[in-house]
Amino acid sequence: MSTPVQLQHYIGGTWCDGDGPRIASTNPARPDQVVAEGRQAGPAEVDRAMVAAAAAQREWARTPAHDRGAVLLRAAVVMEEHAEEWGLELSREEGKTRAEGRGEVLRAAQIFHYYGNDGDRGAGEIFASPRRGEQILVTRKPLGVVGVVTPFNFPIAIPAWKIAPALAYGNTVVWKPASTVPLLALRLAQALEAAGLPAGVLNLLIGPGSMGNALVNHPGLDGLTFTGSTGVGRQLAAAAANRGVPVQAEMGGKNPAIVLADADLELAAEQVMLGAFRSTGQKCTATSRLVLAESIADEFLARLKERVESLVVGDPTDPAVQMGPVVNDSARKSILEGLSTARAQGASVVAGGEPYDNGDLATGYFAPPTILELPAGRELDIWREELFGPVLSVRRAASVEQAFELANDGEYGLSAALFTQDLSRVLEGMEDLDVGILHVNSETAGADPHVPFGGAKKSGYGPKEQGAAAKDFFTHTTTVYLRGGTPAA
Ligand code: NAD
Repeated sequence: MSTPVQLQHYIGGTWCDGDGPRIASTNPARPDQVVAEGRQAGPAEVDRAMVAAAAAQREWARTPAHDRGAVLLRAAVVMEEHAEEWGLELSREEGKTRAEGRGEVLRAAQIFHYYGNDGDRGAGEIFASPRRGEQILVTRKPLGVVGVVTPFNFPIAIPAWKIAPALAYGNTVVWKPASTVPLLALRLAQALEAAGLPAGVLNLLIGPGSMGNALVNHPGLDGLTFTGSTGVGRQLAAAAANRGVPVQAEMGGKNPAIVLADADLELAAEQVMLGAFRSTGQKCTATSRLVLAESIADEFLARLKERVESLVVGDPTDPAVQMGPVVNDSARKSILEGLSTARAQGASVVAGGEPYDNGDLATGYFAPPTILELPAGRELDIWREELFGPVLSVRRAASVEQAFELANDGEYGLSAALFTQDLSRVLEGMEDLDVGILHVNSETAGADPHVPFGGAKKSGYGPKEQGAAAKDFFTHTTTVYLRGGTPAA
């Protein structure tokens, strides 16, 4: 058992202890092990961080974009150098497998590379003027001080895809990561410090949700980017909007995979398995609903069941393990409660379903990888409500039209996967499926940094993230009508 890492806050370029109650993260596979601990930040630290971010903002915005980008590129290299070590810490603190932990650190580095290089790309647009001797320029300016509030499930990649563009475009940041998994936040701040980020440009505060409220309600806030659950996102978005602060919020999902009768069933079974159970189903884009064409449903479920029953579940730091625990005991309890409600409402178990009742899997926060089939024509909570764990609900569809209707059923619209080899069905799906991200013949999760990411319907609020979309949120435009001092002859 290793010594817990000491958690500190990073304010105005200095590491400091908080003055709030003790905070500790534990290993969800072995809850007696403390991974990191320290003291929470309080309202005084929120204020100090906001003041530091405001003081650093003008100089950072005036720093050439190329030089801002150079800091990001150096930070990316630091992350790459520490991918193995920080990936292991991530696995111990959050519960995803070691390979996924390392992969996530490398993903964060990739995002920093992308935005680091943006310093040498276009910074605005130029338009023709209807008047002689004039041109119209659209230039971009940072919002100012941006609040960043992030969830537990990607403790370095999601912060990276918010913080990298925020900094690249000249904003300064006050960041509140999820209190359940704070260690990788410390590491990201350390990477930026090692890369030479000026004091005050990034400020990190570790504390509970209530501290996030203090951040959102601070009068110095110029923008807010949030990822997390729908309830919290709506509350924060309302608070920010009420004060005229631009807000971007990415929230819940209930992502369907649709397998049509002509699909390559072997490929689809593999991809659905990965989509539903990788990262223990704790991805906003995880596959949590499966819609099967009636004619292939039995065969497909048999293939999927076999795969799910052979998943190696255990301590995620063991390289042989394919699925780790969920993040904490309350997550495990709510998943198990969701399963028993679904069964009481008529769902039948295809695989899994039973809690672990002895050994390491019972002491750790493990939830069984589960497939449930839902009865036709009946409303079940599990079809619409996010459980955020390794649980897949299945329904059968009598036609392609019905399959798309079932997939669209509900208030979320983050991602979907469509499995078919028929181009006409793909084209119909592109038109009918109301989601922010559509995967054709690949799992519902997976996103590249250079293209927009985010949900349709009630999954997202405000501009999308990543790629060029991030620039729309983290900057505002100034339209400049530009003439020379002497009127054109
Ligand atoms: P959460 O909403 O509990 O917490 C997210 C962040 O908000 C944390 O930093 C938390 O401390 C903070 N917070 C909580 N209550 C707060 C309050 N009252 N005021 C201010 N801040 C508060 O979410 P989580 O459990 O960490 O993450 C899981 C959720 O995130 C799931 O619903 C998942 O779908 C969603 N998610 C969405 C995306 C996406 O891009 N759409 C990506 C990842 C996760």
